[in-house]
Amino acid sequence: MTAPALLQVRNLVKQFPVRGGLLRREVARVHAVDGVSFDVAAGRTLGVVGESGCGKSTTGRCVLRLIEPSAGEVIFDGCSVTGAGRRELRTLARRMQIVFQDPYASLDPRMTVGAIVGEGLVIHGLARKHREIEQRVAQLLETVGLQPDHMRRYPHEFSGGQRQRIGIARALAVEPRLVVCDEAVSALDVSIQAQVINLLEDLQERFGLTYIFIAHDLSVVEHTSDRVAVMYLGRIVEIADARELYTNPRHPYTEALLSAVPIPDPSVQRRRIVLQGDVPSPLAPPGGCHFHPRCPIAQKGLCDRERPEPRTIAEGHQVACHLR
Ligand code: SF4
Repeated sequence: MTAPALLQVRNLVKQFPVRGGLLRREVARVHAVDGVSFDVAAGRTLGVVGESGCGKSTTGRCVLRLIEPSAGEVIFDGCSVTGAGRRELRTLARRMQIVFQDPYASLDPRMTVGAIVGEGLVIHGLARKHREIEQRVAQLLETVGLQPDHMRRYPHEFSGGQRQRIGIARALAVEPRLVVCDEAVSALDVSIQAQVINLLEDLQERFGLTYIFIAHDLSVVEHTSDRVAVMYLGRIVEIADARELYTNPRHPYTEALLSAVPIPDPSVQRRRIVLQGDVPSPLAPPGGCHFHPRCPIAQKGLCDRERPEPRTIAEGHQVACHLR
């Protein structure tokens, strides 16, 4: 019998009200996450990709309840995150951490690196005495490839890659099991991206971490993920093991995203699929299949009317498309 996944997400929904007029009445709703379900096994990585505005970051934040979901259920290690009260949520928060995209904005410029990394240790009572906190911070900085004496400096004294390492040390401080990497390498140069990805992989092996790796680019998640979910306008349109998804994509949107990923071997040609138009507004998503206005194979009368539900087409491979 296979063990239940460390993280189970079921029918997650997040809608943001849009207010207008003098009385700030609700005039519309942004459908940011629209019925998302997935599992992540312990020690594995789920890559979540899609264009900006597809709901991937909101999904990550709802899983940790940094944003309150509108509906749905999140189960972490057998505990309901969505049903947790304040105290329970605090305990759960220690075991589920996030590394943000922008290392410039996510680190308080007025705090030393030691205070930033040590904050979680103090909040969760993992170290109390000053010396104990310093020792642990020094260890954490070394773990992420920084110097222990960096703890006395401020974030602005570091490069982008180093700041992201500080963000990773801060997340690691509370000994999490799950880390959501929310576009954690997107703001970095390609060579620095590779170093940070290598670090995240080393840490996963060393500490048995489970990752949700959010990115807008399929090439970034290709080598880091065991499974990949492709999102479009708040829904998962395809999810499969990484190798299966990259060799046998079935959803027209996944095909288009993959066609833009460069292949290192120049003798292999891939036909580029250029999608027409932009991603529609999540304020008024198109009816039926959200992708139909841009889909090269959309069928009138079907795709514009009926929402395609996810179907299992091979073991562990689900696709939400009427025609595939
Ligand atoms: Fe394209 Fe129709 Fe499939 Fe949507 S359901 S992806 S519009 S073929």
